[in-house]
Amino acid sequence: MDYNQIFNTRLEDLREEGRYRTFAPLERLCGDFPKAIYHAPDGSSKTVTIWCSNDYLGMGQNKVVLNAMKKAIDDHGAGAGGTRNISGTQKLHVDLENSLANLHQKEAALTFSSGYVANEGSLSTIIKLLDNPIVFSDALNHASMIHGMKSGPCEKYIFRHNDVTHLENLLKQADPKRAKIIAFESVYSMEGDIAPIKEICALAKEYNALTYLDEVHAVGLYGAHGGGIAEQRDLLNQVDIIEGTFGKAYGLMGGFITGSKSVIDAVRSFASGFIFTTSLPPALLAGALASVEYLKTSEIERARAHSNAKYLKQKLEGNNLPYLKGNSHIVPLIVGDAKCCKAVTDILLRDHNIYVQPINYPTVPKGTERMRLTATAAHRIEDIDKMVDVLATLYQEHDILSLKTGS
Ligand SMILES: *Cc1c(COP(=O)(O)O)cnc(C)c1O
Repeated sequence: MDYNQIFNTRLEDLREEGRYRTFAPLERLCGDFPKAIYHAPDGSSKTVTIWCSNDYLGMGQNKVVLNAMKKAIDDHGAGAGGTRNISGTQKLHVDLENSLANLHQKEAALTFSSGYVANEGSLSTIIKLLDNPIVFSDALNHASMIHGMKSGPCEKYIFRHNDVTHLENLLKQADPKRAKIIAFESVYSMEGDIAPIKEICALAKEYNALTYLDEVHAVGLYGAHGGGIAEQRDLLNQVDIIEGTFGKAYGLMGGFITGSKSVIDAVRSFASGFIFTTSLPPALLAGALASVEYLKTSEIERARAHSNAKYLKQKLEGNNLPYLKGNSHIVPLIVGDAKCCKAVTDILLRDHNIYVQPINYPTVPKGTERMRLTATAAHRIEDIDKMVDVLATLYQEHDILSLKTGS
């Protein structure tokens, strides 16, 4: 059997659908973000401005974080040396988990290798422990949550994105005696819109459901202490389980959940993806702790990121460019065609030294292909001006607006 032949056929299918992904190898330079060196396939390299990073606050190059990581390496070495249960729990884990529980005003917290693992491990475990619950999931939930919900036996209903009426209709029809979970996100990363958390939590109370909220794109960035949208809207005590990452606004990597002592202890005790893997290393833990604590008090980065996003939206609006008008810092700009989206981002990179990754199916529905723009705290007004000027010209040259409206 020719195994490589099989793999190549599969890859060819992907290419034909226009879904084959290529990497853009970057060399991030400390102090230069959002600029980085881009290494092209032909071996050449040049400086580009990144417009699609999740390092929203530039914490990946924040001195406080870097110093904490360097010190942790000097003090504690490279790896943790084991799984959490077998010699891998550091005092830093305990400190970080206490800091996270405090961030969300919850009894306890638990860290994971990534936000993906946190969602997958927590949801699958909670579903298993609740013994055949009914799960209600927002239509645009992230792959990690979907994977977690699929891995356990449960009845699952998908409610239309952010549609509280649809969710209530589904809840009404469900057996009142069965356990229920409502899984949703706060800031939706591909739409840039924000969930009606208060209304969803009110329904959860009424129908006796557990709420699981992914705040991955909001932690660090929203709320007086960076606790996310739930903190900003004073709803921390309404949500049962909050999930987050160190990989986005906190500038590192790793995931976590916060909640009651009981649910955290249960996930700790039963989640395979938590138990059977080497724990996060000291440098990452120290960096994450420094980043979380720093953003509990520092407002400068948040203020800059939000004012930059606002300025970007105003400029796009002024140029009649079709961005999705959500209330978050994420600004999706619709192109509406996979090939055109790729062509425009190729030109941005080739001629204007601007790096934006095209977002295509299956990440977003066909016909809604887009560029997902993130103006971080590190972008300057000149960067934003240049970006929008170039986009306005490209949209005209490629007649993207008529493509979008089908006229
Ligand atoms: C990125 C992302 C995750 C996964 O977090 P990682 O720490 O990158 O693994 C989970 N949920 C959502 C909504 C995300 O966008």
